[in-house]
Amino acid sequence: MQQDNHLYDLTVIGGGPSGMFAAFYAGLRELDTQLIESLPQLGGQVAALYPEKIIRDVAGLPHIKGRDLVHNLQAQMLQFNDFKPHIFCDEEVLSLEKHATEFVLTTTKRITHTRQVLVAIGGGAFSPRPLAIKYDPQLNGQNVFYFVKDLADFAGQTVAIAGGGDSAIDWALTLENVANQVYLIHRRPQFRGLEANVKRLESSSVQLVTPFNIQQLTNTTPGLEIQLKQAKGSLVRTLTVDSLLVNYGFTADNHVLRDWGLPLDHRALPVDQNMATTIAGIYGIGDSVTYAGKTKLIAAGFGEAPTAINHIAETLYPERKQPLHSTSIA
Ligand SMILES: Cc1cc2nc3c(=O)[nH]c(=O)nc-3n(C[C@H](O)[C@H](O)[C@H](O)COP(=O)(O)OP(=O)(O)OC[C@H]3O[C@@H](n4cnc5c(N)ncnc54)[C@H](O)[C@@H]3O)c2cc1C
Repeated sequence: MQQDNHLYDLTVIGGGPSGMFAAFYAGLRELDTQLIESLPQLGGQVAALYPEKIIRDVAGLPHIKGRDLVHNLQAQMLQFNDFKPHIFCDEEVLSLEKHATEFVLTTTKRITHTRQVLVAIGGGAFSPRPLAIKYDPQLNGQNVFYFVKDLADFAGQTVAIAGGGDSAIDWALTLENVANQVYLIHRRPQFRGLEANVKRLESSSVQLVTPFNIQQLTNTTPGLEIQLKQAKGSLVRTLTVDSLLVNYGFTADNHVLRDWGLPLDHRALPVDQNMATTIAGIYGIGDSVTYAGKTKLIAAGFGEAPTAINHIAETLYPERKQPLHSTSIA
C-alpha cells in the first residue's frame, strides 16, 4: 500500500457534481485539496447513468446534456493553476480514522492524510437493478445494456427498453431520434412517468409492449430474441432486437459511512446548517446528506458546497473570514 505523506487541507470523497463543484470552490478559497472518486470517471450519477440526457434545472443553464455539464464542471475545477485540486479517480475510500490533528484515509491505492473531510458520495457505490431472469452474462455489454454511454452506439438499431418509470420513458423518447425502432416493454399498462412525458410517449413512434414480462433472452443470428409473457395472462410474444436496454432503476450502498463511524438517518448523513456532521472535521453535501427540507437535486448540492467550504476555510484559516466574490479574481 502506497503511503502518501502529504497533509491536505481538505479531502473531498466522491467526484459527482456536488464533489466536483466543492473541489472547485475549495480552490477558490485557496485550500490544498484532493478529490477521490471510486469510478474511473468523474461526474457521479450524471456521467454514469445519464450522460446523454438533457438536464433543465441547473441554474443559469436552460438545458445542458449530462456529459457537457460534467465537462464544464471539470473545466471550472481545473481553472486555477495554483489551487486546482489533486484528482484521484479509480480509487475508493475504504476507511477513515480520526487522529489528534488529522484524518487518515485508506483507499484502494493509498494511505493519505487530511485535516478536514467532505463526504460527497451520493447514495454510495451504486449498481443497476438487474433483469429478474437468468441469462447468459456474456450478453451484457454486447446486446444487453444497463447504461447508455454513447447514443451513437444505438444509431440505426432496433432497440427494446425494459422499464416503466421516468428514466425508461426518457430513454425511449431520446433513442426514438437515433434508433431505427424503439420498443418499450413494461409489465403494467400504465407508465409511472411525468404526465407530460407519458403524453409525449403516447404520441411518439415508440411501440409500447404492455403488460408483458421478459421471460427469456436468446442470442440468435438476426439479433437478440426476447421472449415475453403477458402479465396475468397467457399470451406470449417474441421480439428480435439489436439491443435491450434495462431500466429498472439502481440500488446504492453507502454502508461505508457506518463503518466510518458516521451516524445515519434513513441511510443519509445528518448535517447541520454548516453542512457539518456530528464528528468535528467531517462535513457532507449532495445526495449523501439529510437535513430538514433536503432535496436531492444537482442544484441543491451546488448550493451546499460553498456553505461547507466557507465554513471549512474559516475553521482552518480563521483570518480568511469573508469569501471573495469570484468576480474579484483577475
Ligand atoms: C436518471 C436520473 C436522472 C436525474 N435527473 C436529474 C435532473 O434532471 N436534475 C437534477 O437536479 N438531478 C437529477 N438527478 C439526480 C442527480 O443526478 C443527483 O442529485 C446528483 O448526481 C447528486 O450528486 P452527488 O455529487 O451528491 O452524488 P453522485 O452523483 O451520486 O456522486 C457521488 C460519487 O461518489 C463516488 N463514491 C461513492 N462512494 C465512494 C467512495 N467510498 N470513495 C470514492 N468515491 C465514492 C461515486 O462513485 C459517485 O461518482 C437524476 C438522477 C438520475 C438517476
